[in-house]
Amino acid sequence: MAIPLLAQMKVKGAYAKYSKIESQYGYTGYEVARKILDNSGLYQVKVEETPGSLSDHYDPRTRTVRLSTNNYYGKSLAGAAVAAHEVGHAVQHDRKYAFLSFRHLLFPVANFGSSLSWIFIMIGLFTQATGLFAIGIALLAVGVLFQIVTLPVEFNASTRAMAMLTNYNIITTEEVKPSKKVLQAAALTYVAATLVAVAELVRLVLMFTGFGNSDD
Ligand SMILES: [Zn+2]
Repeated sequence: MAIPLLAQMKVKGAYAKYSKIESQYGYTGYEVARKILDNSGLYQVKVEETPGSLSDHYDPRTRTVRLSTNNYYGKSLAGAAVAAHEVGHAVQHDRKYAFLSFRHLLFPVANFGSSLSWIFIMIGLFTQATGLFAIGIALLAVGVLFQIVTLPVEFNASTRAMAMLTNYNIITTEEVKPSKKVLQAAALTYVAATLVAVAELVRLVLMFTGFGNSDD
C-alpha cells in the first residue's frame, strides 16, 4: 500500500516543482503538442483541453491529445514534458508500436476480466470450488499482464518525448534533466501499481496451491 502512495507523492513533488518553472522558450502545452505533432506529420491528431489535474492523456479512438487546463495554457517545463509524453503515445499509435497494439488488444479482456475476477475468486473461496477460483485467477492475470505491457509503452513514450523536445528546439539543454525528472516520476507510479498487482496475483496463486492441497 505504501509503495504507490510514495510514488504518487514523488510525482506530485516533481510535477509541483517544475510546474512553477516556466520553460525558457515559453511554449504553452498546447503549442508544444501541436509543434511536435506537426513536425511528426500528425496534422490530423487534435489537441484539446480537459478538466482536472494530471488528467492528461491520449485518446486512440478519436486520435486526440488531451491536456489538463494548467498544462494546456501554461508555459511550465512540467507541462511541456507532459504534453510531449502524450504526443509520444500518438506517435506510437501512428507508427503501430508493437507494445501499444498489444495493449489495445488486451484492453477489452483486461477491463472486463478485472471487474469479474474478484466475483469468481470470492465465490470460488466460499463454495470451495477450485475451478471458479482458477478462472478468477486467470482473469486477474490478464489484468496484470495488461499492466506489465503498459510499462514499455510508458517508458517508450517518455523516451520519444525527450528526443522530440530537444530535436524540435522546445527546451534548452539545461532543461533536459528536469524534464526527465518529471517523466521518470510519472513512470514510477506505473511501476509501483504493477508491483502491487503482481504481488496480489502471487498471493492468490499461493493461496490457490494451498487450497488444492487441503483437499487431499
Ligand atoms: Zn503515458
